[in-house]
Amino acid sequence: MIEFYLGDITTLKTDAIVNAANNSLLGGGGVDGAIHRAAGPKLLEECRTKNGCQTGQACLTRGYNLPAKYVIHTVGPIYRNGKNNEQELLASCYIESLKLAQKEHIKNIVFPSISTGAYGYPVNLAAPVAVKTVLEFFKSHQDIELKVTFCLFDERTYNAYVNAYAQLQQETL
Ligand code: ADP
Repeated sequence: MIEFYLGDITTLKTDAIVNAANNSLLGGGGVDGAIHRAAGPKLLEECRTKNGCQTGQACLTRGYNLPAKYVIHTVGPIYRNGKNNEQELLASCYIESLKLAQKEHIKNIVFPSISTGAYGYPVNLAAPVAVKTVLEFFKSHQDIELKVTFCLFDERTYNAYVNAYAQLQQETL
């Protein structure tokens, strides 16, 4: 139901990978840049038709040259001081992406660590929000047939997610 993987999201053959995009959807650095490079120019072409995306929302495109069939683009919050709705907006990215996956009958979805790169969300705060939001989505959608993988790019981020999961499991015991 939920897995953690250390590596590069652009190499994964799955139904959908999630892109930590920006409001323009026209590409950027980090995982966004890597996804656009691997998908090729057709991805940007489709993104241009979308008219951008609001923070906390999500939209779907094809994956083009990526091994993944679809890309779900979501825009995480820029972290300022934690008092600007950052937590709700981050949770919303996961919820809206999962809703879209459900609507499109996607069975496997892979998330990167949204907002914890250029957008500055401390990973020790973002990881529990991400994992808890996914677990709560599963709880409220018991009939759903969906596997969620978190693809983390470095060991520090990977450990933060695995630890957040272990902590949440402890709390529910
Ligand atoms: P944001 O702007 O939402 O912070 P970033 O792309 O800057 O997005 O960073 C989000 C996370 O994605 C960071 O942990 C970064 O290390 C990671 N990342 C960067 N490239 C990749 C990749 N190819 N696969 C998976 N994760 C990646």
